[in-house]
Amino acid sequence: MLELQGIPASPGVAIGPALVLDSVGYRIERSTVAADQAANEAARLAAAVDGVASDLKNNQRETSGAAGNHTGDIFAAHLQMLSDPRLASELSERILVRHQTADYAVSRVFYTFANSLKRLRNPILSERAQDVLDVQRQLLTHLGAIADAPLANLDSDAIVIANNLTPSETANLDREFVRGFCTETGGSGGHTAIVAKGLELPAVVGIGPFIDQIDSHCTVIVDGDQGKVIFAPDQETLSRYRDLMVRRRTLSKRLEELRDLPAETADGVRLTVSANIEFPHETAACLANGADGIGLYRTEFLYLASDDEPSEEEHYQVYRRVVEALGGRPIVIRTLDLGADKIAKRAANQSENNPFLGLRSIRLSLRNLELFRPQLRAILRAAVHGDVRVMFPLVTTLGELRQARMVMNTVADDLESEGIPHRSDIKTGMMVEVPAAVTMLESFVHEVDFLSIGTNDLAQYALAVDRTNPLVAELYQSSDPAVVRMVRHCVEVANRAEVPLSVCGEMSSNPARALLLIGLGVRNLSVPPSSLPIIKKVIRSVTLADCQEAAARVMKLEAARDVDMFLTDRLECMVPELVLS
Ligand code: PEP
Ligand code: MG
Repeated sequence: MLELQGIPASPGVAIGPALVLDSVGYRIERSTVAADQAANEAARLAAAVDGVASDLKNNQRETSGAAGNHTGDIFAAHLQMLSDPRLASELSERILVRHQTADYAVSRVFYTFANSLKRLRNPILSERAQDVLDVQRQLLTHLGAIADAPLANLDSDAIVIANNLTPSETANLDREFVRGFCTETGGSGGHTAIVAKGLELPAVVGIGPFIDQIDSHCTVIVDGDQGKVIFAPDQETLSRYRDLMVRRRTLSKRLEELRDLPAETADGVRLTVSANIEFPHETAACLANGADGIGLYRTEFLYLASDDEPSEEEHYQVYRRVVEALGGRPIVIRTLDLGADKIAKRAANQSENNPFLGLRSIRLSLRNLELFRPQLRAILRAAVHGDVRVMFPLVTTLGELRQARMVMNTVADDLESEGIPHRSDIKTGMMVEVPAAVTMLESFVHEVDFLSIGTNDLAQYALAVDRTNPLVAELYQSSDPAVVRMVRHCVEVANRAEVPLSVCGEMSSNPARALLLIGLGVRNLSVPPSSLPIIKKVIRSVTLADCQEAAARVMKLEAARDVDMFLTDRLECMVPELVLS
Protein backbone atom coordinates (compact mmCIF):
# COMPACT_ATOMS: atom_id res chain seq x y z
CA MET A 1 0.00 0.00 0.00
CA LEU A 2 1.31 3.44 -0.92
CA GLU A 3 -0.43 6.57 0.31
CA LEU A 4 0.40 9.93 -1.27
CA GLN A 5 -0.79 13.37 -0.36
CA GLY A 6 -1.73 15.89 -3.04
CA ILE A 7 -4.10 18.80 -3.42
CA PRO A 8 -7.85 18.12 -3.37
CA ALA A 9 -9.15 19.24 -6.77
CA SER A 10 -12.59 17.73 -7.08
CA PRO A 11 -14.54 16.13 -4.24
CA GLY A 12 -15.72 12.54 -3.97
CA VAL A 13 -14.13 9.13 -3.75
CA ALA A 14 -13.29 6.85 -6.67
CA ILE A 15 -11.88 3.35 -6.61
CA GLY A 16 -10.63 1.50 -9.67
CA PRO A 17 -7.68 0.15 -11.61
CA ALA A 18 -4.87 2.58 -12.47
CA LEU A 19 -4.30 3.66 -16.03
CA VAL A 20 -0.82 5.13 -15.90
CA LEU A 21 -0.06 7.57 -18.70
CA ASP A 22 3.26 8.89 -19.82
CA SER A 23 4.25 12.37 -18.86
CA VAL A 24 3.69 14.71 -21.77
CA GLY A 25 1.88 14.63 -25.05
CA TYR A 26 2.25 10.96 -25.80
CA ARG A 27 -0.05 8.85 -23.79
CA ILE A 28 2.07 5.76 -23.28
CA GLU A 29 0.79 3.31 -20.75
CA ARG A 30 3.37 2.16 -18.24
CA SER A 31 3.88 -1.51 -18.95
CA THR A 32 6.42 -4.26 -18.53
CA VAL A 33 7.03 -7.61 -20.21
CA ALA A 34 8.06 -11.03 -18.93
CA ALA A 35 11.84 -11.37 -18.49
CA ASP A 36 12.14 -13.65 -21.51
CA GLN A 37 10.49 -11.01 -23.71
CA ALA A 38 12.97 -8.26 -22.83
CA ALA A 39 15.32 -9.14 -25.68
CA ASN A 40 12.39 -8.84 -28.11
CA GLU A 41 11.67 -5.36 -26.81
CA ALA A 42 15.33 -4.44 -27.27
CA ALA A 43 15.15 -5.71 -30.86
CA ARG A 44 11.95 -3.69 -31.49
CA LEU A 45 13.73 -0.61 -30.22
CA ALA A 46 16.79 -1.29 -32.41
CA ALA A 47 14.53 -1.60 -35.47
CA ALA A 48 12.76 1.65 -34.57
CA VAL A 49 16.11 3.42 -34.12
CA ASP A 50 17.21 2.20 -37.57
CA GLY A 51 13.93 3.34 -39.11
CA VAL A 52 14.15 6.80 -37.57
CA ALA A 53 17.84 7.10 -38.54
CA SER A 54 17.00 6.37 -42.14
CA ASP A 55 14.12 8.93 -42.11
CA LEU A 56 16.41 11.50 -40.58
CA LYS A 57 19.11 10.94 -43.21
CA ASN A 58 16.53 11.39 -45.94
CA ASN A 59 15.24 14.55 -44.29
CA GLN A 60 18.76 15.86 -43.93
CA ARG A 61 19.53 15.26 -47.60
CA GLU A 62 16.29 16.77 -48.84
CA THR A 63 16.26 19.85 -46.62
CA SER A 64 19.95 20.56 -47.17
CA GLY A 65 19.22 20.51 -50.91
CA ALA A 66 16.18 22.75 -50.62
CA ALA A 67 17.14 25.10 -47.80
CA GLY A 68 20.91 24.79 -47.37
CA ASN A 69 23.17 22.83 -45.05
CA HIS A 70 22.32 25.01 -42.08
CA THR A 71 18.73 23.73 -42.07
CA GLY A 72 19.75 20.19 -42.88
CA ASP A 73 22.02 20.25 -39.82
CA ILE A 74 18.95 20.18 -37.59
CA PHE A 75 18.49 16.57 -38.63
CA ALA A 76 22.17 15.86 -38.14
CA ALA A 77 21.69 16.92 -34.52
CA HIS A 78 18.69 14.59 -34.24
CA LEU A 79 20.78 11.74 -35.61
CA GLN A 80 23.44 12.42 -33.04
CA MET A 81 20.86 12.27 -30.29
CA LEU A 82 19.60 8.98 -31.58
CA SER A 83 23.02 7.44 -31.11
CA ASP A 84 23.84 9.22 -27.85
CA PRO A 85 25.52 6.55 -25.68
CA ARG A 86 24.02 7.85 -22.43
CA LEU A 87 20.46 7.68 -23.73
CA ALA A 88 21.15 4.27 -25.27
CA SER A 89 22.42 2.88 -22.00
CA GLU A 90 19.43 4.25 -20.05
CA LEU A 91 17.09 2.71 -22.59
CA SER A 92 18.70 -0.70 -22.40
CA GLU A 93 18.76 -0.58 -18.59
CA ARG A 94 15.00 0.04 -18.52
CA ILE A 95 14.31 -2.66 -21.10
CA LEU A 96 16.79 -5.38 -20.18
CA VAL A 97 16.98 -4.89 -16.42
CA ARG A 98 13.57 -3.45 -15.53
CA HIS A 99 11.75 -5.26 -18.36
CA GLN A 100 9.84 -2.19 -19.45
CA THR A 101 8.34 -2.13 -22.93
CA ALA A 102 10.37 -0.25 -25.54
CA ASP A 103 7.50 2.24 -25.90
CA TYR A 104 7.43 3.10 -22.24
CA ALA A 105 11.23 3.21 -21.90
CA VAL A 106 11.47 5.66 -24.82
CA SER A 107 8.74 7.85 -23.42
CA ARG A 108 10.42 8.09 -19.99
CA VAL A 109 14.06 8.45 -21.03
CA PHE A 110 13.41 11.14 -23.61
CA TYR A 111 10.96 12.94 -21.35
CA THR A 112 13.48 13.10 -18.51
CA PHE A 113 16.19 14.31 -20.86
CA ALA A 114 13.92 16.99 -22.36
CA ASN A 115 12.96 18.14 -18.91
CA SER A 116 16.55 18.45 -17.73
CA LEU A 117 17.26 20.64 -20.77
CA LYS A 118 14.16 22.75 -20.15
CA ARG A 119 15.34 23.51 -16.65
CA LEU A 120 18.64 24.97 -17.86
CA ARG A 121 18.76 28.72 -17.92
CA ASN A 122 20.50 28.71 -21.28
CA PRO A 123 17.72 29.41 -23.84
CA ILE A 124 19.53 27.60 -26.67
CA LEU A 125 19.82 24.42 -24.64
CA SER A 126 16.28 24.63 -23.37
CA GLU A 127 15.12 25.03 -27.00
CA ARG A 128 16.78 21.69 -27.67
CA ALA A 129 14.21 20.06 -25.43
CA GLN A 130 11.81 20.37 -28.36
CA ASP A 131 14.27 18.45 -30.55
CA VAL A 132 14.46 15.70 -27.96
CA LEU A 133 10.68 15.44 -27.88
CA ASP A 134 10.62 15.40 -31.65
CA VAL A 135 12.99 12.42 -31.80
CA GLN A 136 10.90 10.76 -29.10
CA ARG A 137 7.76 11.22 -31.22
CA GLN A 138 9.43 9.67 -34.25
CA LEU A 139 10.63 6.67 -32.27
CA LEU A 140 7.20 6.15 -30.78
CA THR A 141 5.64 6.34 -34.22
CA HIS A 142 8.03 3.68 -35.50
CA LEU A 143 7.25 1.55 -32.47
CA GLY A 144 3.57 1.79 -33.33
CA ALA A 145 2.67 3.46 -30.02
CA ILE A 146 -0.26 5.56 -31.13
CA ALA A 147 -0.71 8.83 -29.32
CA ASP A 148 -3.73 9.02 -27.03
CA ALA A 149 -4.59 5.35 -27.63
CA PRO A 150 -5.16 4.35 -23.99
CA LEU A 151 -7.52 7.26 -23.41
CA ALA A 152 -9.31 6.93 -26.73
CA ASN A 153 -9.91 3.20 -26.54
CA LEU A 154 -11.08 2.63 -22.99
CA ASP A 155 -13.43 -0.28 -22.50
CA SER A 156 -13.38 -0.71 -18.73
CA ASP A 157 -13.22 1.43 -15.59
CA ALA A 158 -10.03 3.38 -15.03
CA ILE A 159 -8.47 5.90 -12.71
CA VAL A 160 -6.23 8.06 -14.89
CA ILE A 161 -2.77 8.71 -13.50
CA ALA A 162 -0.82 11.37 -15.41
CA ASN A 163 1.91 13.93 -15.02
CA ASN A 164 -0.57 16.59 -16.05
CA LEU A 165 -3.95 16.88 -17.71
CA THR A 166 -4.85 20.10 -19.47
CA PRO A 167 -8.37 21.47 -19.03
CA SER A 168 -9.29 20.30 -22.53
CA GLU A 169 -7.81 16.81 -22.02
CA THR A 170 -9.86 16.61 -18.85
CA ALA A 171 -12.96 17.76 -20.71
CA ASN A 172 -12.43 14.99 -23.24
CA LEU A 173 -12.03 12.14 -20.74
CA ASP A 174 -14.40 9.29 -21.48
CA ARG A 175 -17.04 9.65 -18.77
CA GLU A 176 -18.30 6.16 -19.32
CA PHE A 177 -15.13 4.58 -17.98
CA VAL A 178 -12.94 7.19 -16.26
CA ARG A 179 -13.83 7.19 -12.55
CA GLY A 180 -11.34 9.78 -11.34
CA PHE A 181 -7.80 10.99 -11.86
CA CYS A 182 -4.66 12.15 -10.14
CA THR A 183 -1.74 14.14 -11.48
CA GLU A 184 1.79 15.02 -10.47
CA THR A 185 1.34 18.71 -11.27
CA GLY A 186 -1.51 21.23 -11.00
CA GLY A 187 -3.15 23.31 -8.29
CA SER A 188 -6.61 23.40 -6.79
CA GLY A 189 -7.61 26.60 -8.58
CA GLY A 190 -6.66 25.58 -12.11
CA HIS A 191 -9.28 24.93 -14.73
CA THR A 192 -8.44 21.24 -14.80
CA ALA A 193 -9.84 21.08 -11.27
CA ILE A 194 -12.84 23.15 -12.26
CA VAL A 195 -13.65 20.88 -15.20
CA ALA A 196 -13.25 17.83 -12.96
CA LYS A 197 -15.86 19.26 -10.62
CA GLY A 198 -18.14 19.97 -13.58
CA LEU A 199 -17.80 16.34 -14.65
CA GLU A 200 -18.17 15.14 -11.04
CA LEU A 201 -14.89 13.26 -11.29
CA PRO A 202 -13.03 12.89 -7.97
CA ALA A 203 -9.53 14.26 -8.51
CA VAL A 204 -6.27 14.95 -6.69
CA VAL A 205 -3.58 17.09 -8.31
CA GLY A 206 -0.11 18.41 -7.47
CA ILE A 207 1.14 15.16 -5.91
CA GLY A 208 4.72 15.65 -7.14
CA PRO A 209 6.73 12.98 -9.01
CA PHE A 210 5.37 9.50 -8.33
CA ILE A 211 4.39 7.93 -11.65
CA ASP A 212 7.52 5.82 -11.91
CA GLN A 213 6.51 3.94 -8.76
CA ILE A 214 3.08 2.92 -10.03
CA ASP A 215 2.06 -0.06 -12.11
CA SER A 216 -0.88 0.09 -14.48
CA HIS A 217 -3.93 -1.85 -13.31
CA CYS A 218 -3.13 -1.77 -9.58
CA THR A 219 -6.11 -0.67 -7.47
CA VAL A 220 -6.23 3.03 -6.63
CA ILE A 221 -8.38 5.04 -4.27
CA VAL A 222 -8.74 8.70 -5.14
CA ASP A 223 -9.95 10.67 -2.15
CA GLY A 224 -10.86 14.03 -3.66
CA ASP A 225 -12.10 15.36 -0.31
CA GLN A 226 -8.83 14.95 1.55
CA GLY A 227 -6.45 15.14 -1.43
CA LYS A 228 -5.18 11.61 -0.80
CA VAL A 229 -4.36 8.86 -3.27
CA ILE A 230 -3.83 5.29 -2.10
CA PHE A 231 -2.28 2.65 -4.35
CA ALA A 232 -2.72 -1.09 -3.75
CA PRO A 233 -4.77 -0.44 -0.57
CA ASP A 234 -5.07 -3.11 2.12
CA GLN A 235 -8.46 -4.71 2.81
CA GLU A 236 -9.24 -2.51 5.78
CA THR A 237 -8.59 0.74 3.89
CA LEU A 238 -10.56 -0.51 0.92
CA SER A 239 -13.62 -1.35 2.98
CA ARG A 240 -13.39 1.95 4.88
CA TYR A 241 -13.50 3.84 1.58
CA ARG A 242 -16.27 1.64 0.17
CA ASP A 243 -18.26 2.46 3.29
CA LEU A 244 -17.57 6.18 2.82
CA MET A 245 -18.81 5.96 -0.77
CA VAL A 246 -22.07 4.41 0.44
CA ARG A 247 -22.51 7.15 3.06
CA ARG A 248 -21.84 9.85 0.46
CA ARG A 249 -24.47 8.32 -1.81
CA THR A 250 -26.99 8.19 1.03
CA LEU A 251 -26.33 11.84 1.86
CA SER A 252 -26.74 12.94 -1.73
CA LYS A 253 -30.01 11.00 -1.97
CA ARG A 254 -31.26 12.84 1.10
CA LEU A 255 -30.17 16.19 -0.32
CA GLU A 256 -32.15 15.50 -3.49
CA GLU A 257 -35.27 16.20 -1.44
CA LEU A 258 -34.28 19.87 -1.31
CA ARG A 259 -34.33 20.22 -5.06
CA ASP A 260 -37.60 22.09 -5.37
CA LEU A 261 -37.33 24.05 -2.14
CA PRO A 262 -36.07 27.64 -2.23
CA ALA A 263 -32.56 28.58 -1.09
CA GLU A 264 -33.89 30.29 1.99
CA THR A 265 -32.24 30.60 5.38
CA ALA A 266 -33.98 29.20 8.47
CA ASP A 267 -35.01 32.79 9.32
CA GLY A 268 -36.53 33.43 5.90
CA VAL A 269 -33.86 35.28 3.89
CA ARG A 270 -34.08 34.26 0.24
CA LEU A 271 -30.80 33.78 -1.60
CA THR A 272 -30.26 32.69 -5.17
CA VAL A 273 -28.08 29.71 -5.89
CA SER A 274 -27.17 29.39 -9.54
CA ALA A 275 -24.84 27.05 -11.35
CA ASN A 276 -21.49 27.39 -13.11
CA ILE A 277 -21.24 25.40 -16.30
CA GLU A 278 -18.54 24.72 -18.86
CA PHE A 279 -20.57 22.58 -21.26
CA PRO A 280 -24.15 22.85 -22.48
CA HIS A 281 -25.00 19.29 -21.42
CA GLU A 282 -24.50 20.36 -17.78
CA THR A 283 -27.76 22.32 -17.99
CA ALA A 284 -29.65 19.10 -17.24
CA ALA A 285 -27.67 18.64 -13.99
CA CYS A 286 -28.37 22.28 -13.05
CA LEU A 287 -32.10 21.72 -13.39
CA ALA A 288 -31.99 18.31 -11.73
CA ASN A 289 -30.24 19.89 -8.74
CA GLY A 290 -32.65 22.83 -8.46
CA ALA A 291 -30.53 25.76 -9.70
CA ASP A 292 -32.14 29.19 -9.81
CA GLY A 293 -30.37 29.77 -13.11
CA ILE A 294 -26.87 29.73 -14.57
CA GLY A 295 -24.66 32.28 -12.88
CA LEU A 296 -21.58 31.60 -14.99
CA TYR A 297 -21.33 29.93 -18.36
CA ARG A 298 -17.62 29.54 -19.19
CA THR A 299 -17.98 29.72 -22.95
CA GLU A 300 -14.26 29.28 -23.71
CA PHE A 301 -14.77 25.53 -23.35
CA LEU A 302 -16.52 25.63 -26.72
CA TYR A 303 -13.05 26.33 -28.10
CA LEU A 304 -11.15 23.94 -25.90
CA ALA A 305 -13.33 20.96 -26.70
CA SER A 306 -12.97 21.28 -30.45
CA ASP A 307 -10.19 21.56 -33.00
CA ASP A 308 -11.85 24.34 -34.99
CA GLU A 309 -12.92 27.76 -33.83
CA PRO A 310 -16.70 27.78 -33.51
CA SER A 311 -18.61 30.01 -35.92
CA GLU A 312 -21.23 32.57 -34.89
CA GLU A 313 -23.92 30.07 -35.85
CA GLU A 314 -22.36 27.35 -33.66
CA HIS A 315 -22.16 29.74 -30.71
CA TYR A 316 -25.75 30.74 -31.29
CA GLN A 317 -27.09 27.20 -31.56
CA VAL A 318 -25.34 26.12 -28.35
CA TYR A 319 -26.49 29.16 -26.37
CA ARG A 320 -30.02 28.83 -27.70
CA ARG A 321 -30.17 25.20 -26.60
CA VAL A 322 -29.09 26.11 -23.06
CA VAL A 323 -31.35 29.17 -22.83
CA GLU A 324 -34.40 27.25 -23.99
CA ALA A 325 -33.69 24.38 -21.59
CA LEU A 326 -33.65 26.87 -18.71
CA GLY A 327 -37.31 27.73 -19.31
CA GLY A 328 -37.06 31.40 -18.40
CA ARG A 329 -34.45 31.10 -15.63
CA PRO A 330 -31.64 33.63 -16.05
CA ILE A 331 -28.29 32.76 -17.59
CA VAL A 332 -25.09 34.79 -17.41
CA ILE A 333 -22.99 34.10 -20.49
CA ARG A 334 -19.39 35.06 -19.87
CA THR A 335 -17.48 36.11 -22.96
CA LEU A 336 -14.32 34.19 -23.82
CA ASP A 337 -11.82 33.78 -21.03
CA LEU A 338 -9.13 32.15 -23.14
CA GLY A 339 -5.45 32.26 -22.32
CA ALA A 340 -3.34 31.32 -19.26
CA ASP A 341 -4.21 27.65 -18.60
CA LYS A 342 -7.01 27.64 -21.19
CA ILE A 343 -5.14 27.63 -24.46
CA ALA A 344 -6.98 27.35 -27.75
CA LYS A 345 -5.28 26.33 -30.98
CA ARG A 346 -4.66 29.91 -32.06
CA ALA A 347 -2.57 30.75 -29.00
CA ALA A 348 -0.83 27.41 -28.55
CA ASN A 349 2.41 28.45 -30.20
CA GLN A 350 2.74 31.87 -28.61
CA SER A 351 4.75 31.59 -25.47
CA GLU A 352 4.48 34.14 -22.69
CA ASN A 353 6.67 34.35 -19.62
CA ASN A 354 3.70 34.97 -17.32
CA PRO A 355 0.58 33.79 -19.11
CA PHE A 356 -1.70 34.57 -16.16
CA LEU A 357 -0.51 38.18 -16.41
CA GLY A 358 -0.55 38.16 -20.17
CA LEU A 359 -2.82 38.33 -23.15
CA ARG A 360 -5.78 36.47 -21.70
CA SER A 361 -9.48 36.88 -21.32
CA ILE A 362 -11.08 40.24 -22.21
CA ARG A 363 -7.66 41.52 -23.32
CA LEU A 364 -7.44 38.76 -25.91
CA SER A 365 -11.03 39.37 -27.06
CA LEU A 366 -10.52 43.11 -27.46
CA ARG A 367 -7.36 42.52 -29.50
CA ASN A 368 -9.08 39.94 -31.71
CA LEU A 369 -12.40 41.36 -32.73
CA GLU A 370 -12.82 38.61 -35.32
CA LEU A 371 -13.03 36.33 -32.29
CA PHE A 372 -15.10 38.61 -30.06
CA ARG A 373 -17.73 39.94 -32.45
CA PRO A 374 -19.20 36.59 -33.58
CA GLN A 375 -19.59 35.59 -29.95
CA LEU A 376 -21.33 38.84 -29.01
CA ARG A 377 -23.62 38.55 -32.04
CA ALA A 378 -24.54 35.01 -31.00
CA ILE A 379 -25.25 36.11 -27.41
CA LEU A 380 -27.54 38.96 -28.52
CA ARG A 381 -29.33 36.60 -30.90
CA ALA A 382 -29.77 33.93 -28.22
CA ALA A 383 -31.22 36.59 -25.90
CA VAL A 384 -34.42 36.48 -27.95
CA HIS A 385 -35.11 33.06 -26.40
CA GLY A 386 -34.89 33.84 -22.68
CA ASP A 387 -33.32 35.85 -19.85
CA VAL A 388 -29.76 36.20 -21.15
CA ARG A 389 -27.15 38.41 -19.52
CA VAL A 390 -23.60 39.01 -20.68
CA MET A 391 -20.51 39.29 -18.48
CA PHE A 392 -16.95 40.35 -19.28
CA PRO A 393 -14.08 38.54 -17.53
CA LEU A 394 -10.84 39.91 -16.06
CA VAL A 395 -11.83 43.54 -16.46
CA THR A 396 -8.96 45.60 -15.06
CA THR A 397 -9.54 49.13 -16.36
CA LEU A 398 -12.60 51.25 -17.07
CA GLY A 399 -11.29 51.62 -20.61
CA GLU A 400 -11.63 47.86 -21.18
CA LEU A 401 -15.18 47.80 -19.88
CA ARG A 402 -16.18 50.75 -22.06
CA GLN A 403 -14.47 49.29 -25.11
CA ALA A 404 -16.22 45.95 -24.63
CA ARG A 405 -19.58 47.69 -24.32
CA MET A 406 -18.84 49.72 -27.43
CA VAL A 407 -18.09 46.59 -29.46
CA MET A 408 -21.35 45.13 -28.19
CA ASN A 409 -23.27 48.25 -29.27
CA THR A 410 -21.81 48.16 -32.77
CA VAL A 411 -22.59 44.47 -33.03
CA ALA A 412 -26.20 45.22 -32.02
CA ASP A 413 -26.39 47.98 -34.68
CA ASP A 414 -25.12 45.54 -37.31
CA LEU A 415 -27.71 42.93 -36.36
CA GLU A 416 -30.39 45.61 -36.51
CA SER A 417 -29.41 46.77 -39.98
CA GLU A 418 -29.12 43.16 -41.17
CA GLY A 419 -32.65 42.52 -39.90
CA ILE A 420 -31.52 39.59 -37.70
CA PRO A 421 -33.67 38.98 -34.60
CA HIS A 422 -31.75 39.90 -31.45
CA ARG A 423 -31.98 41.93 -28.24
CA SER A 424 -29.77 44.92 -27.63
CA ASP A 425 -30.99 45.75 -24.11
CA ILE A 426 -29.58 42.78 -22.18
CA LYS A 427 -28.10 43.19 -18.73
CA THR A 428 -24.34 43.64 -18.84
CA GLY A 429 -22.00 42.84 -16.00
CA MET A 430 -18.36 42.28 -15.19
CA MET A 431 -16.35 39.87 -13.17
CA VAL A 432 -14.48 41.35 -10.25
CA GLU A 433 -11.35 39.23 -10.18
CA VAL A 434 -8.46 41.67 -10.36
CA PRO A 435 -7.48 43.73 -7.29
CA ALA A 436 -7.46 46.87 -9.49
CA ALA A 437 -11.17 46.38 -10.17
CA VAL A 438 -11.83 46.00 -6.43
CA THR A 439 -10.09 49.24 -5.56
CA MET A 440 -11.80 51.07 -8.44
CA LEU A 441 -15.18 49.44 -7.91
CA GLU A 442 -16.87 52.74 -7.00
CA SER A 443 -16.30 53.81 -10.61
CA PHE A 444 -17.09 50.49 -12.27
CA VAL A 445 -20.30 49.97 -10.36
CA HIS A 446 -22.10 52.80 -12.16
CA GLU A 447 -21.36 51.34 -15.58
CA VAL A 448 -22.72 47.81 -15.10
CA ASP A 449 -26.00 46.10 -14.34
CA PHE A 450 -24.42 43.48 -12.08
CA LEU A 451 -21.13 42.30 -10.61
CA SER A 452 -19.80 38.82 -10.02
CA ILE A 453 -16.74 38.18 -7.87
CA GLY A 454 -14.37 35.60 -9.32
CA THR A 455 -12.60 34.53 -6.17
CA ASN A 456 -10.42 32.04 -8.06
CA ASP A 457 -8.57 34.75 -9.90
CA LEU A 458 -9.03 37.36 -7.21
CA ALA A 459 -7.17 35.12 -4.72
CA GLN A 460 -4.49 34.43 -7.32
CA TYR A 461 -3.81 38.08 -8.05
CA ALA A 462 -4.32 39.40 -4.51
CA LEU A 463 -1.98 36.83 -2.98
CA ALA A 464 0.50 36.69 -5.89
CA VAL A 465 0.12 32.93 -6.18
CA ASP A 466 -0.30 31.01 -9.42
CA ARG A 467 -3.57 29.10 -9.02
CA THR A 468 -2.15 26.09 -10.90
CA ASN A 469 1.20 25.80 -9.11
CA PRO A 470 1.39 23.01 -6.52
CA LEU A 471 4.53 24.51 -4.97
CA VAL A 472 2.56 27.45 -3.62
CA ALA A 473 -0.82 25.75 -3.28
CA GLU A 474 -0.88 26.28 0.47
CA LEU A 475 -0.88 30.03 -0.05
CA TYR A 476 -3.75 29.88 -2.51
CA GLN A 477 -6.73 30.35 -0.19
CA SER A 478 -9.83 32.40 -0.87
CA SER A 479 -10.29 32.41 2.91
CA ASP A 480 -7.17 34.54 3.31
CA PRO A 481 -8.08 37.65 5.32
CA ALA A 482 -6.78 39.83 2.48
CA VAL A 483 -9.27 38.24 0.06
CA VAL A 484 -12.08 38.28 2.61
CA ARG A 485 -11.61 42.03 3.06
CA MET A 486 -11.78 42.55 -0.69
CA VAL A 487 -15.03 40.62 -0.87
CA ARG A 488 -16.46 42.64 2.00
CA HIS A 489 -15.50 45.88 0.24
CA CYS A 490 -17.20 44.74 -2.98
CA VAL A 491 -20.41 43.90 -1.11
CA GLU A 492 -20.44 47.33 0.52
CA VAL A 493 -19.89 49.16 -2.77
CA ALA A 494 -22.50 47.08 -4.61
CA ASN A 495 -25.07 47.55 -1.84
CA ARG A 496 -24.57 51.31 -1.74
CA ALA A 497 -25.08 51.50 -5.51
CA GLU A 498 -27.93 48.96 -5.35
CA VAL A 499 -26.24 46.82 -8.00
CA PRO A 500 -26.72 43.04 -7.64
CA LEU A 501 -23.57 41.15 -6.76
CA SER A 502 -22.83 37.45 -6.81
CA VAL A 503 -19.83 35.25 -6.06
CA CYS A 504 -19.11 32.68 -8.74
CA GLY A 505 -15.59 31.59 -7.76
CA GLU A 506 -15.02 28.27 -6.02
CA MET A 507 -15.21 29.99 -2.64
CA SER A 508 -19.01 29.87 -2.84
CA SER A 509 -19.10 26.10 -3.32
CA ASN A 510 -17.10 25.44 -0.16
CA PRO A 511 -19.82 24.98 2.49
CA ALA A 512 -17.79 26.57 5.31
CA ARG A 513 -16.71 29.53 3.22
CA ALA A 514 -20.28 29.94 1.90
CA LEU A 515 -21.34 30.62 5.52
CA LEU A 516 -18.86 33.46 5.60
CA LEU A 517 -20.07 34.90 2.29
CA ILE A 518 -23.65 34.94 3.52
CA GLY A 519 -22.55 36.63 6.72
CA LEU A 520 -20.66 39.24 4.70
CA GLY A 521 -23.87 40.11 2.85
CA VAL A 522 -23.58 38.09 -0.36
CA ARG A 523 -27.06 37.04 -1.53
CA ASN A 524 -26.27 35.33 -4.83
CA LEU A 525 -23.97 32.33 -5.07
CA SER A 526 -23.04 30.45 -8.21
CA VAL A 527 -21.52 26.99 -7.80
CA PRO A 528 -20.77 23.85 -9.85
CA PRO A 529 -23.99 21.84 -10.43
CA SER A 530 -22.74 19.03 -8.20
CA SER A 531 -22.41 21.48 -5.27
CA LEU A 532 -25.95 22.87 -5.56
CA PRO A 533 -27.60 20.41 -3.12
CA ILE A 534 -25.01 20.83 -0.39
CA ILE A 535 -24.98 24.62 -0.60
CA LYS A 536 -28.76 24.70 -0.52
CA LYS A 537 -28.66 22.45 2.53
CA VAL A 538 -26.25 24.85 4.27
CA ILE A 539 -28.43 27.87 3.45
CA ARG A 540 -31.61 26.20 4.66
CA SER A 541 -29.94 25.11 7.91
CA VAL A 542 -28.52 28.45 9.09
CA THR A 543 -29.87 31.80 10.18
CA LEU A 544 -28.60 35.09 8.87
CA ALA A 545 -27.74 36.17 12.40
CA ASP A 546 -25.52 33.07 12.86
CA CYS A 547 -23.69 33.79 9.63
CA GLN A 548 -23.24 37.47 10.47
CA GLU A 549 -21.83 36.58 13.83
CA ALA A 550 -19.43 34.09 12.22
CA ALA A 551 -18.36 36.73 9.68
CA ALA A 552 -17.72 39.26 12.47
CA ARG A 553 -15.49 36.71 14.24
CA VAL A 554 -13.64 35.96 11.00
CA MET A 555 -12.81 39.64 10.53
CA LYS A 556 -10.72 39.40 13.70
CA LEU A 557 -8.64 36.47 12.39
CA GLU A 558 -5.32 36.98 10.66
CA ALA A 559 -4.59 33.77 8.74
CA ALA A 560 -6.46 31.66 6.18
CA ARG A 561 -5.86 28.55 8.25
CA ASP A 562 -7.52 30.10 11.31
CA VAL A 563 -10.43 31.29 9.18
CA ASP A 564 -11.00 27.82 7.73
CA MET A 565 -10.66 26.08 11.09
CA PHE A 566 -13.14 28.43 12.68
CA LEU A 567 -15.63 28.18 9.82
CA THR A 568 -15.41 24.38 9.61
CA ASP A 569 -16.10 24.21 13.30
CA ARG A 570 -19.12 26.50 12.98
CA LEU A 571 -20.40 24.50 10.02
CA GLU A 572 -20.18 21.25 11.94
CA CYS A 573 -22.27 22.78 14.72
CA MET A 574 -24.82 24.36 12.40
CA VAL A 575 -25.18 21.50 9.87
CA PRO A 576 -24.03 18.30 11.62
CA GLU A 577 -25.62 16.08 8.91
CA LEU A 578 -22.80 17.04 6.57
CA VAL A 579 -20.09 15.47 8.71
CA LEU A 580 -19.28 12.13 7.08
CA SER A 581 -16.17 10.95 8.83
C1 PEP B 1 -12.87 33.04 -11.04
O1 PEP B 1 -11.78 33.49 -11.41
O2 PEP B 1 -13.21 32.98 -9.84
C2 PEP B 1 -13.84 32.52 -12.01
C3 PEP B 1 -15.05 32.18 -11.65
O3 PEP B 1 -13.43 32.38 -13.30
P1 PEP B 1 -12.44 31.22 -13.80
O4 PEP B 1 -12.30 30.22 -12.70
O5 PEP B 1 -13.04 30.65 -15.03
O6 PEP B 1 -11.17 31.97 -14.07
MG1 MG C 1 -11.45 33.99 -13.47
